[in-house]
Formats: sequence, structure tokens, C-alpha cells
Amino acid sequence: MALSGLDIYKLLPKTNCKECGYATCLAFAMALAQKKVSLDVCPRVTEQAKASLESASQPPMKLVTIGGGENALQIGNEVVMFRHEQKFYHPTGIGFIMEDTLKPDEANARLGKINELKFERVGQVINVDIVALANRSQDKFKFLELVKTAAQGTKLNIILISDSVDALKEAAQLLKDRRPLLMSAGTELDKVTAIAKENDLPLVVKGKTLEEIAASTEKAKSQGISEMVLLFDEPNLSKRMQLYTLARRSALKKNTRPLGYPLIAFTTFDNAEEEMEEAISYVTRYANIVILKNIERDSVLPLLVARQDIYTDPQKPVQVEPKIYEIGKVTKESPVIVTTNFSITYFTVSGEVESSKVPTYIIACDAEGMSVLTAWAAEKFTAERIAGALKKSGIEEKVSHKKVAIPGYVAVLSGKLEELSGWTVQVGPREASALPAFLKSWRAA
Ligand code: SF4
Repeated sequence: MALSGLDIYKLLPKTNCKECGYATCLAFAMALAQKKVSLDVCPRVTEQAKASLESASQPPMKLVTIGGGENALQIGNEVVMFRHEQKFYHPTGIGFIMEDTLKPDEANARLGKINELKFERVGQVINVDIVALANRSQDKFKFLELVKTAAQGTKLNIILISDSVDALKEAAQLLKDRRPLLMSAGTELDKVTAIAKENDLPLVVKGKTLEEIAASTEKAKSQGISEMVLLFDEPNLSKRMQLYTLARRSALKKNTRPLGYPLIAFTTFDNAEEEMEEAISYVTRYANIVILKNIERDSVLPLLVARQDIYTDPQKPVQVEPKIYEIGKVTKESPVIVTTNFSITYFTVSGEVESSKVPTYIIACDAEGMSVLTAWAAEKFTAERIAGALKKSGIEEKVSHKKVAIPGYVAVLSGKLEELSGWTVQVGPREASALPAFLKSWRAA
């Protein structure tokens, strides 16, 4: 938990010598709490206070990196329990189990399907992140075969799961450059820890209770492991969910360092729909990696959408660039419609325009990323702004008419907009779903 200005002040020399450039130690402490200045600016702070302040300034949850390069998955480093308090920083990694009991062609087919789980939503590409390779057969050679197949068949990040220390060791060496996450269901944690240490890899630490996990992370830490991911071995779903929440709360609210690591969850339902619901529960409470079994696109998409929504900054709406968009093969006689630059609004409108098959110009007016009614109520979608957007877009040179349609919800802006822009304003439908009918009957003259 971050220290307050007063907490920091208690650790400072309290001489008010001004050498830091601040009038008092308290003013310096306040600036330090707001991260406006660094501690080394005070030459008089004691080594003991420095150590306490530096340890307190570490994030309550460790950042863990799995994989490398541009596909690397970073998880953890979260600072709040609830998204609206600030934001969640590192989206939950979504992945799928692959067992070494699969035949090579089955493994390749499954990998191919997993690789294709990529979607576009509100202008962003959303995709899955991980494959978890499990040594289900308990045969080292089958496991290593699967590891080689996955290494060639996917750029996604990899989790290696085996009870065999030998199998894990060889697999870790094979994939060292891919920085896999190691996981052993067995009891030889010391030996697996040594493999993680030797190859500088993150490690899954498993336990039934908070206390058991905390003891294991402290032990692994003392053996040189800094990046760990926690797994609760609790068969009851509601108790398991409770443990995930308690672990997050302990790390963030009580600054319990041994629990300050990201969490991993494996789904238990076999049915794709139920599994998706279970996975969404983990994403919301508070798994940093979720591993599923089913790879049906229809059930994976809602999960990825839920993750995208939860990890969007609540203070920063997803926006599209405010400009003119051409949908279809537009001509000088094509309709011109206006909406706001809130991504969900824009993509809902553009989706309906596309389905109408009427080539149309859409002017996304800068409304600071708000939806139509919100922006209008906040005076961010006004006649002045729309008139400005029409002018700036250069639409006058693109069409032979001067007719623009505005959303039905802001019909009240029509008169003033006509006055300011010189364009004839048409009141379009309130809901985007009515746009196809509106556009099909639209005429330039
Ligand atoms: S330099 Fe250190 S001791 Fe002096 S006023 Fe600043 S914080 Fe206080």
C-alpha cells in the first residue's frame, strides 16, 4: 500500500533545512507521496529511513513477465481492488490447456484454432495470450514432443506443467528463449525452484490456503525466485473465488508481501458456456491468468470482450480519431451523418451503415470520447462543435449537397446548427439500428 505524505514525514529528519528545495520536510513528504520528487533529493535522510521508504514504495503486487518480445505477457502490478478507484493495469492473460495425450495432428489442429482466436472490437484487436502444455501422459518424451510442436506452431506464450522434474528441466531448456512459466503439480518444489532459478523463469506456487501459499513464496524467494504466480488448490468453486479475493485484498490492503504476486486459475466446467461464465468470474475476481479447455470462438469472444471492458481505463473512454470516415464507395451524392467519437457509439453507427450498403460519410465529432446523450448533457456535443467538425472535415469539397443528419436524441441542436454551418440539418433516428432504413430512403435533393 502506498505511504501517505504523513507516513513519509515521520521518517524524514524534520530539520526543515530546505536543502531539498522545499520549505519544510512536510512539503517534501507531500511531494514525495505524489511522486513529484525522488527521495535522493534529501541529503539528510538516514539509511534506515531510506530502506523503509524504498521497501514501502515497491508495488504491492509483483509484475511478472511471461514470454519475450512484443508478445510477452505482463501480469500483476495492480494497485486497486476496484477498477473505478484508478484502473487495472495489466489485462488477464487468457489461455488454453494442451495435453500431451493429443496425437501430433490433433495438437497442430488445436494450436491452429487457438492461434486464430483474434477479434476486432471498437477498433482494437483482442486476442488470447497463452497455451498451457500439460504432461498428462506422464511420459517425458511425449511431453517434449508437444513442447517442440507448440514452439513451432504458435507465437503465444507458454506454461509448462509437469509432475516430473526431469521433464520440466528439459522442456525449460528447450524453451528458455520463450521464457515460459513453470508449474509442477508435484511435491518437489525445491527442485522445480532450482530449475526456475537456473533459467531465470517465473514459477507457479500452489497451495490450499493463504498461509500455505505465503510460506511457499517466502521459501522460493529465499532461494532466489522473484517472479511467482499463485494457484489455489481448492476444489470448491465459491471457496476458491473467495481465496482469490482474499489474496488480492491481503496484498493490496494489508501489504502482505508473501501474497503480493499475480494469480492463475484453471477452469473446471466442461460445458463451453458454463466454462466461459466461470472464466469471466475469474477475470473479475482477480485472476491474472485464466486457462480454459474449450476453444469455441463463440464462447471465447464474450470472455475477451469482458476482459477488454474491465481493463479499459474508466476515466478515459475508448475513442476514435475525430475525423471524417468514408464507409463504402462514397460519391458526391452520398449521405453525410454526424456522431460522436466515443468508440462504441462510432462502431455501432458504422456497423449499421455498413449493413445498409449505402455508401456514407460519417463525421466523428470530437466529444471527448462521450456517447451522444452524455456528451450533449456535458456540452461536449454542441451545435458549435458539430459546425466546427463539418468545416474542419473538408466535407464541403467531397459532396455536391449540403445536407447533414444528426442523431435523433439531439434534434434540439438543429436550428442553431443550421444557423452556424449553413447546412440543412436532418434529424436522423434516435437508435443506430434504424439507420439502414433512414439511409436507404435518403436523397441528396
Ligand atoms: S532536505 Fe531533507 S531534511 Fe531538509 S527540508 Fe528537505 S526533507 Fe527536510
